[in-house]
Order: sequence, then structure tokens, then C-alpha cells
Amino acid sequence: MPAQIRVFRCLDDNIGVLLHDPATGACAAIDAPAEGPILKTLDETGWRLSDILVTHRHADHVQGIDGLKRRFGCRVVAPEKARAEVPGADEYVREGSTPKVGGLSAEVWETPGHCRDHIAYWFADDRAVFAGDTIFTLGCGRVAESSYAEMWTSLSRLAALPDDARVYSGHDYTISNARFALAADPDNAALKARAAEAERAKAEGRVLIPSTIGAEKATNPFLRAGEPAVARSVGREGAGAEAVFQALREWKNRF
Ligand SMILES: [Zn+2]
Repeated sequence: MPAQIRVFRCLDDNIGVLLHDPATGACAAIDAPAEGPILKTLDETGWRLSDILVTHRHADHVQGIDGLKRRFGCRVVAPEKARAEVPGADEYVREGSTPKVGGLSAEVWETPGHCRDHIAYWFADDRAVFAGDTIFTLGCGRVAESSYAEMWTSLSRLAALPDDARVYSGHDYTISNARFALAADPDNAALKARAAEAERAKAEGRVLIPSTIGAEKATNPFLRAGEPAVARSVGREGAGAEAVFQALREWKNRF
């Protein structure tokens, strides 16, 4: 039976996600930005929280854990590399670990770049990747602790997933990402259409999450660092994709 997935807003721009296995009744929160919106969504769906899957240790992804754990006694799965820094963690995972949510099985990918402990959860049967702050709709996370090369490798791995893979990211920065994307890749017709769609979604109170790998490959400038037009926009024509990626990410920091 396919997983059921709900996406909702938390805090200012975080995205909460609940993943439910209808066969077993298991239900996981991907990160725990805030208790309130997670409780509200559990209430609306009638699902009972059994697990929390943590993508990385930053406060806006783990601060809801304590309260949820007290209430539900749920299991908390966290990156091995953040061992001392995720409150209430019960189980640590690393590259290749295969944690389950009821009958749903994930593969853990280490995706350093935004921070050194960052991981993604790939649910192959459901074609869904929970990517935290590695990739956003039309953008990517800031490179804080790891090298640009590591972040580029992490993004390239995600880009190699099937085009129909759904991408659930940890924040909704779509409108500001679209503005930057149009500056970096101004002649991309698919991007122009998507930016217009993002504006419509905002007006209607929707978020463009999940995205898909296919849509991101066509419109996300960070995944398009290998395209000559994008290299040209950062004055790095002829440079390798990784160098173009770094120039793009540094430009976005100042944008
Ligand atoms: Zn973060």
C-alpha cells in the first residue's frame, strides 16, 4: 500500500511532513520544527505518531522532539554524526542504513554541505526523498560546515534519482529562490513558467512542495551548474560544474 504524506507549514518558513503507512498505522514526522502544527495535522488525519526521522541537528528541525516524545513515546532516528546533538535520539543512522516506518523502508544517504551531519531519507518504493535543507524547490541550502565540493556531490546524488522522485524539503523559500533563479538562468522558459506557478501558488496559500527531481533538473540553477548559460551568468564559462556551483551559491548568499 502506498505511503500517505502530508505537508504543512511550521514556524516562519519551515515545512513539516508526516509520512503514514496505512498498512500498519505507523506514522513518522520528518524533523520536528514545532510541536503545534504537527499535533494539528495528526489531529486532522487521525494518525498516531510512532517515529521522528531527523535530517540534521539544527534547532529549527529538532526543537519539537522533546514534547512529541513525551506525548507519544515515539522513536527518534537521528544522524550518527549528530550523536550528541539531537535531543531524545533512540537510534543512529549513517550512509546505507535502512530504517523503517512500519512497513515502509528508507535508505539513508549522507548529504553533507549545509552541515556535516546532514542526511536524506530515500523511500524508493514510494518514490519520495526527504531532503531536509540540502535541496529546496528552485534552490539549495547554505553551505555552512562542509565544503562546496561536498555539497555539490550531495546535490548531484539527489539529481541522479528518477525524474518522478518527489522531493520534500525542509523550508519553503520558493518565491525568493525563484527570483534568484531567474537572475542566474534568465532564458530558461521552463523556469519562467515555474516562477509564475510559484506566484500563483503563493496567492492561493499553497506551497510547491513536494517538487520532483525532473522539475528541479529543468529549473533549479544549482542543479544546472553544468549548463553553459548558467556558467555564463556567473562569469565562469568553460569552468567545471562544481566551480560554477560554488560561484552561484556565493552569489545567492549576497543576493
Ligand atoms: Zn538547517
